[in-house]
Amino acid sequence: MLDAATAVSATPAAIRREDYRPPDWLVPEIALDFQLDAQATRVTARLTVRRQGAHGHPLRLDGGGGLLPVSVSIDGEELHDAWRIDGEQLVIDLPGDDHLVETIVQIAPAANSTLMGLYASNGLLCTQCEAEGFRRITFFPDRPDVLSRYTVRMEGDAALYPVLLSNGDQLDAGELPAGRHYALWRDPFPKPCYLFALVAGDLSANRDQFVTRSGRTIDLGIWVREADLPKTRHAMASLKASMAWDERVYGREYDLAVFNIVAVSDFNFGAMENKGLNIFNSRYILADPDTATDADFDAIAGVVAHEYFHNWSGNRVTCRDWFQLSLKEGFTVLRDQQFSADQGSPAVKRIEDVRALRAAQFPEDAGPLAHPIRPDSYIEISNFYTATIYNKGAEVIRMMKLILGDEGFRAGTDLYFDRHDGQAATCEDFIVAMEDASGADLTQFRLWYTQAGTPRVTASLTTDAPGGRARLRLSQSVPTTPGQPDKQPMPIPLKLSLLGAVSGAAMGGEHLVILDEAEKEVTFDGLTELPVLSINHGFSAPICLETDRSPADLAFLSAHDEDPFARYEAMQQLMLDTLVGAAKGGPVDHTPVIDAVRNTLTDPALDAAFVAEAVLLPSEAFIGDQLDAVDPEMVATVREALRADLGTELIDEWRDAYARAHANRYEYSPNAKGMRRLRSVALAFLAAAGAPDWAELAFAQYRASDNMTDRQGALGVLANNDAPEREAALADFYDRYAGDALVIDKWFTAQALSTRSGTVEAVEALARHPDFTIANPNRLRSLVGAFAVNQRAFHDPSGRGYRFVADMILGVDKLNPQAAARLVPSLGRWRRYEPGRASLMRDELERVLAVPGLSKDVFEQVSKSLG
Ligand code: ZN
Repeated sequence: MLDAATAVSATPAAIRREDYRPPDWLVPEIALDFQLDAQATRVTARLTVRRQGAHGHPLRLDGGGGLLPVSVSIDGEELHDAWRIDGEQLVIDLPGDDHLVETIVQIAPAANSTLMGLYASNGLLCTQCEAEGFRRITFFPDRPDVLSRYTVRMEGDAALYPVLLSNGDQLDAGELPAGRHYALWRDPFPKPCYLFALVAGDLSANRDQFVTRSGRTIDLGIWVREADLPKTRHAMASLKASMAWDERVYGREYDLAVFNIVAVSDFNFGAMENKGLNIFNSRYILADPDTATDADFDAIAGVVAHEYFHNWSGNRVTCRDWFQLSLKEGFTVLRDQQFSADQGSPAVKRIEDVRALRAAQFPEDAGPLAHPIRPDSYIEISNFYTATIYNKGAEVIRMMKLILGDEGFRAGTDLYFDRHDGQAATCEDFIVAMEDASGADLTQFRLWYTQAGTPRVTASLTTDAPGGRARLRLSQSVPTTPGQPDKQPMPIPLKLSLLGAVSGAAMGGEHLVILDEAEKEVTFDGLTELPVLSINHGFSAPICLETDRSPADLAFLSAHDEDPFARYEAMQQLMLDTLVGAAKGGPVDHTPVIDAVRNTLTDPALDAAFVAEAVLLPSEAFIGDQLDAVDPEMVATVREALRADLGTELIDEWRDAYARAHANRYEYSPNAKGMRRLRSVALAFLAAAGAPDWAELAFAQYRASDNMTDRQGALGVLANNDAPEREAALADFYDRYAGDALVIDKWFTAQALSTRSGTVEAVEALARHPDFTIANPNRLRSLVGAFAVNQRAFHDPSGRGYRFVADMILGVDKLNPQAAARLVPSLGRWRRYEPGRASLMRDELERVLAVPGLSKDVFEQVSKSLG
């Protein structure tokens, strides 16, 4: 058990939103000088500081990671006693209102395993400053409402660091004695320090240009290791498409003469929108058909767009404080989702986004770490880069767009960008801009910013007779979440229609009903047929919906709904009702699902990508989310039973679909992608049916494919089952891609996600594989992150999976607290499981919490999960 006294005395303080105060000192200008060296980099910072308002407070500059000043000078004079260190801050008493403060520090990038601040990756030096990494580079007011103009001089060994990049434009560069050289960069746009970036190393650029709508030519560069240049083509095409899209859809043009992207292999998350110098995890840049799947290509386009879009939603208008994070992240996720929808199939993109929301955000919103999209407090801000801030944040702005209409919304974003250009803004500023531009009243809508928890909505339709009237009864309740016992009704926009039970046509078209009370009744007149309710079209609100629609109604909708998302959703609901009923021990009838899947598979009007999505069973995790006291074995058993029945009963249809979707030459197009997806889905159902030739088919697909999508699809099916071909394919895959880190990640993941028994032991062994390292976040995620979402293996009744993940958390925390903290939520959901597993999970959390010297990151996630 945990020693409560130790834990309490060790509790780091929470930062609260209501405590926000404007900065005492501003820093309009900063000049940085870097003497670059992997072991010891010297950083000289000259800050022009200005007192803001009438106060007698000293200048407080944040430091981190044990930063200490080598020297401190004020207005050109070195001080020896007029400064002090308070915690990690450098505190200086300043007599006047305007001063020049110069500090010199020495840092060690090669020894920095946190991947925050300045660090070394594969011979490169690079930075990551969001949220609070800049303080590890130099002493500075590390808060997003202090905006400065940056001048950056870098000097280093010309052979080790031939390329020297920073934000803005390069003003100067040249040779120096002793094989050294320098470069000078200047960013004319004032920015918060979290957007500062520097890269030094041996890089080559894929160069291109983009001409803006006002006729300015922008030089684009994607910087990678020379050997990787051929893999940057898709990222470059995506960048140019994003630039054109933001001009067309949001009226936003790029503002510097240069836009650079650098790919690095050690990176804590996806990518970073540093002004004019985005830095990316290499997995979101590098791709070719042989090494990257369709999903990888799509993700690259989405992340390149996301970071580019931040230039306006994040950089030109930034956040006042980190409680406003969703202001830039939620909005920018919506923008990248819209972009990707426009590039391919909007319906399939929406299905993918909703699946991601349900996989990551709904569980978060229902667990111990639930928080509103604008949180009220945090211990470590890095823990708040969550699916709630990002994905629910995007859903909330999507609802605003629906309520205001496309034109009202665009008027709102125009006003927001114009009004707050160059400022550090708040979520409230965004809402007010929306109201001012459209005339709408969003008073009640603000509850979406303050209340956590996924609303539960019930919908029930009653009818008298054809030609008569239908009554729709709606109700909502927002569940209790930590610190929020009482909730108020929110405005929930529901797009819906009533389909004629015979014709399948939407009677009276599509309606938008805003459910803004606990209960509401809506009536529909003049119906010519008995109606079937189709509701939450396009997932118009991020809710859990309960309806009293029969299996027959859902099957009908899955064949006739005009809204593709609702059509998909009807099938999902039918499957979910069947599986949840079975998991609760009710009677099992697979026939309606089998019939509905047959209809979908054989409907010639549907495209392959949609079919592949529609016939997929809900994930084990999502089924578990509908249950109390989850028994993952039971969930897996009922799901496997339905999969096997679907496989067996529809074996001819799966063989047909498999043959029809047969690949020709590789092509990256929505149609070709859909075919590949359907092919691997069909293959998995053939394996589930126990078709005698499943392994042969899978191995043949593995060997014959000319692209990673088909190869990985086959490998996944093989990895999940036992057959001689399994070992052969895994060994071949490993040999073929030895040394290609991003592909070897896939090799680890295929095994970590395996549904076959013995996976816990296999994963423990893989953690001892020479290619495994906890120091690289991609590799850590590929094995441990994947394992922690594998419902069967992670929840092995022995508790061995829990112990493995807890050991990893403790090991990684010493190197990289952010990466360690990300592994906590899987254990943190212990309350959702049956008592045996719940107590094993809780024991592991308590074991972690009892270890002295935990990072704030892990401490916050674990203590909240136990609290
Ligand atoms: Zn972002």
